[in-house]
Parts: sequence; C-alpha cells; structure tokens
Amino acid sequence: MSKIRIAPEHFGAVYEQFNASISKFDCGRKCAPLNDGQPVCCTTGNAIPVVHKAEFALLKSRSELWSRYRATDATSRKIVEELPSSTCAIECKGAAFCERDNRTIACRAFPFYPYVTAKGEFIGLSVYWTFEDRCWMIARMDLAEPAFVKEMVAAFEKIFAFDPEEWETMLSHGASTRRVYSRWNRPIPVIGRNGELLKVMPRTHELRPATMADFKPRGAYASEAAYKRAVKKAGGTLGPEPKGGYLAP
Ligand code: SF4
Ligand code: SF4
Repeated sequence: MSKIRIAPEHFGAVYEQFNASISKFDCGRKCAPLNDGQPVCCTTGNAIPVVHKAEFALLKSRSELWSRYRATDATSRKIVEELPSSTCAIECKGAAFCERDNRTIACRAFPFYPYVTAKGEFIGLSVYWTFEDRCWMIARMDLAEPAFVKEMVAAFEKIFAFDPEEWETMLSHGASTRRVYSRWNRPIPVIGRNGELLKVMPRTHELRPATMADFKPRGAYASEAAYKRAVKKAGGTLGPEPKGGYLAP
C-alpha cells in the first residue's frame, strides 16, 4: 500500500477552507493587558507555533512573515528538541505584522484542538488547558462562532486523511487530556461537531450535554477582581471600565 504524504498543497487547500474568525469579538483585547500588550497566543514566550515541515514550506513560498524559531532558554530548547522530525517550531514577526491569509493552522485553531475519544472518534474541539489562566477564549468557549467550529472540524478531517502522524498525536493528546482532567476531577470541555457544548466525564468517558456553568473560569478570568489583580501584577494597563465589566464580550 502506498504511503500518503502530506504536502504543501494540502495545507494550501486547508488554508482556503479554514478562514473563519474564532468569534465575533476581538479576544486579543482581553488577554493582551496580561502580556505586555500582545495577544498571548502570538508571543513565543507563551506559545511556540509548531507546524509540519510541509506547512512551513508552503508559508515560505507565500510570505516572509515566518522564520525558524530559535530557542532562547533551556525550556524552549527542550520543546524544540522533542518535536517529531516531521515538524518544526517557527515564529512570526509579531502581531503588528500579522497576515491573515498566512496564519498557520495552529494560529487559526488556537486555543482549540481536535478532541479524539478513547474509542478513536473525533467528536469535536477541546481546549489547550495549560492556557486557561491566560486565554479569554477558553473562559468563553461558548462564544466560538459556529462557522469556525464547522471549518476547523473539516480542516482536521482533511489533515488526518493525509497525515496519520497528526491523527496519532491527537489520539494521544486525547488520552493526556483524560488523565489531566481525571486528576483534577473536572469534566473535559468540548464543543461538539455541530457547535453544541458537551462535557466528557474523564473517568467513565461518558459524553453529556453541558452549559458554561460546568466549566468554571480560571486564573485571570475567574472574576473581575482576579482580572484586575492579574493585569496589575503583569504591569498592564486597563482603559475605562466598560459597561458589564472588563470580562464581558
Ligand atoms: S485566542 Fe486566547 S490567547 Fe489568543 S488572542 Fe484570543 S484570548 Fe488571547
Ligand atoms: S501569524 Fe498572526 S495569529 Fe499567528 S502568531 Fe503571528 S501574529 Fe499571531
């Protein structure tokens, strides 16, 4: 049987199809005051974009926005060293230079990833929990646009069809998710393929309908007071308080 290899043109097709904004709101306005005025997911100090080498080849053929990421400390060096050989870590020139059409799949999807169950079913999108203290979208995943969810699900179906390694990565990431949430004794938040909120009970793997009341906001987003404290601690500034508070969309 011939082995299918994912190529730059496959990523090009995914870029065409996966373009919807994550939400109607500019979520970067919420997290930037915690991060020197820059969106958290657009700074390598927080999130290092990892791409398939075929995706990097596509990006290089389209733009000068991206270059290889150079590790700056022991932690980031370890992250880079442990990457599968088919992938690489890259960095862009920063949010002020963002080119919408040349964002990576990782940029387009963040903070979501495809959630795969223990039975190997791709049932929807969950969130990179390590960012729950800094990413406002995680606290307000109910505000993800239905078009975004639909496009991201379709994008990953395409990627999985051409890149078995990515499927294995997400299968294993699903298992890590269940371990972490089991330890926390918290339900796993999922946006189902049709945009519905779901929770996976991590120990029994049972899938149930959910509301945002099932997922308590964490870190800076736990309350208005927590947000103000976190911004102050980060040395950030807040404008005049909007009606409904800083955390309201
Ligand atoms: S996705 Fe999260 S981290 Fe990225 S800009 Fe929006 S709120 Fe900030
Ligand atoms: S390309 Fe745009 S969305 Fe992606 S990390 Fe850079 S600034 Fe952020």
